[in-house]
Parts: sequence; C-alpha cells; structure tokens
Amino acid sequence: MLAPPRPDPSLPQLRVNLYSDTQTRPSRAMREAMLDAEVGDEQHGDDPTVHELCDRMAELLGKPAAMFLPSGTMCNEIAILTHCRPGDEILAHHTAHIATSEGGAPWALAGVQVNGLPGARGQFDVETLRAALRPHSRYAPPQTLVEVEQTANFGGGAIWPGTALRAVAEFAHAHGMATHMDGARLMNAAVAAGCPASEMTEGYDSVWLDFTKGLGAPLGAVLAGSSAFIDAAWRWKQRLGGALRQAGICAAACLYALDNNIERLAEDHENARILARGLAQLPGITVETPDTNLVFFDSEGAGITSSELSARLRRRGVQISEIGGYRSRACLHLDVSREDVDTALACFRTAIKEGE
Ligand SMILES: *Cc1c(COP(=O)(O)O)cnc(C)c1O
Repeated sequence: MLAPPRPDPSLPQLRVNLYSDTQTRPSRAMREAMLDAEVGDEQHGDDPTVHELCDRMAELLGKPAAMFLPSGTMCNEIAILTHCRPGDEILAHHTAHIATSEGGAPWALAGVQVNGLPGARGQFDVETLRAALRPHSRYAPPQTLVEVEQTANFGGGAIWPGTALRAVAEFAHAHGMATHMDGARLMNAAVAAGCPASEMTEGYDSVWLDFTKGLGAPLGAVLAGSSAFIDAAWRWKQRLGGALRQAGICAAACLYALDNNIERLAEDHENARILARGLAQLPGITVETPDTNLVFFDSEGAGITSSELSARLRRRGVQISEIGGYRSRACLHLDVSREDVDTALACFRTAIKEGE
C-alpha cells in the first residue's frame, strides 16, 4: 500500500514518540503567533510575514536571497531543477535523502541521476569525489551538482565538520560543479557544534532549513542562495504549485521557531546522549554515539529485528523508526522530555526481554 495507513485503534495511546522530529506538534504559543500574523498573497509578493522570514533566513544562512516553500523535499527538488539540466548527474552520498526518500524525484522530475557515493556516517571526502569524476566526453553524463546533508540523517545525525564541507565545496567548484546543502537539520548541527549556521554553509550555492523537524512548525522550509538562483527557482516554485497565497500564517510559526526553538535543540542532544547511554546498557543492543538528536542502534545481538522491536515497543506506547534489518532509529525532539527518555528506556528493557 502506498497511502499511509490510519492509526490502528487497537494499539495503546502513544506515550513517547521517538519516531521522528517531524511529529512535533505546534505549541499553543506558536499557534497564537500564527493567529496574529499579517498576511498577503505570497505568490504576488504581498505577504509581509513571508518577507520577514525570508530576510531573516537569508541572513542566518549567509546567502543574499531566500524563498519560502511548503516542505524540505520541495526545496531539494527545486534546487536540483534549478541547478541541473535533464541528463545531468548529481554526486551525493548513497544514503542521501534525495536518492532514498523522495520517490525518485531527481530522476522523475528533473531527469537527472544521483551517483551514490560511499563513506562512513553519510559523509564522503574529496578523494571519493575525485574517484567518481567522469571524463569530459559526449558519452558521460555531465556532472553538475554535489550535494551534502547537514546533519547526515542516515549517517546517524552526524555533523559534517566545517573543514570537510569547505574542502568538498572547493573541489566541486574547481571541477565546474555547483554545490547544494540539504540542511533539514542544519540548526541541530550549528547548535551542537557551537558554530554559526552561516559558517557551515560557506561555499554552498544553495541551502535550505526545515521548520518541521526539531523546530516544531507545522509546515514550511526556506531555500536560500544567490539572488539569481532564487530568481530562477521561482519558475519551478510556480510550476510545482509551491507558490502560495496567505502563507504568512505558516511563516509566523517559523518565525516563532527561530525565536524560541533553536537554542533548546541542545536539550534534545542531551536527551539523545542519555538515551544512547541507556540503550548501550541493554543486552544485545549496539548504539552509534549520537552527534545530535538522532540515535541509531542495532539489535542483532539481541536477535530481534528492527520491525519486531518496533512492534514490541509500540504495544508499550513507544514508537521508534525501523531502518531495516536490525537497525533502528530513535529521534529526540521538543515533545520528548527527560522523563519520557526514562519511560522509553523502561519499555525497551521489557520489550527486549519479551518472550524469553
Ligand atoms: C526530512 C528530510 C527531508 C525532507 O523534508 P520534508 O520537509 O519532510 O519534505 C530532506 N532531507 C533530509 C535529510 C530530511 O531529514
């Protein structure tokens, strides 16, 4: 089935949702900010709240211009459509969201292929890029874009160090390729590394931030780049139906998130470390040490597959994300408190013992 299933009424109510930071609910205060938003026709350039958000995001991301879009997926695809021509090739990690989780959109919508690069923790280096270069010839697909994820989601929420990011960008530009950063969780990286986001985006021609992950907004993402890039991206925003009307009501939630939900990401990182330490003490569980708010772990030692573990936990009111095989992900976010982490760990303990 392709459509997402409705909640199963036979399951107990969820107590701790570690499935994803996408499942954060807009708080009362965020909803009140939305209520009072000044709005206008966004695709006509008349929404003052969207302008305010884009101006602040351009500054935060260190780029001259920005554009408000409904989702991060649309940011990635509009960036790809704007940078590339049909037949082109993108170089990205083989686990990149654009390659694994967007329904094949680079191929389907932009007519480009993603060359999936190897590398630990969702990252790759200049030597890997060099090895993937194709000759300049009529036989080879033109390689026009290098894409990185900060943080690397399937890499374990790993933070790319600034030096590695800059080396990749310099190499890409030296070989005539543009650079794009999927910054879905860029603020997690910036807060955890204690480094301004605009430093991490140096050398990237386009970058976006998601407001629906740890920042807790109901929808919205902002794509930034040069004025010429954002200008060209507007045609794709219009074509894909991403040009909006009174979008300020949603931009107001994003502004609220910028003011209130960034510094607190450090709490999610702390909770991730506590959860990781607790999981590592359970029999048969191997944990990848988290850099940010994502905790990846393996239950092969306990002989329990990811889907079985997730089902056992769900019956106890805890939801995690199955990655496949024995690998699972638990995600910390603003709707998971320190106490919830303890509750979840207690459920993990009994879930692992179940059936013994
Ligand atoms: C969630 C996510 C996206 C997609 O963002 P949506 O707003 O859900 O469309 C893209 N890239 C990464 C790394 C993500 O985690």
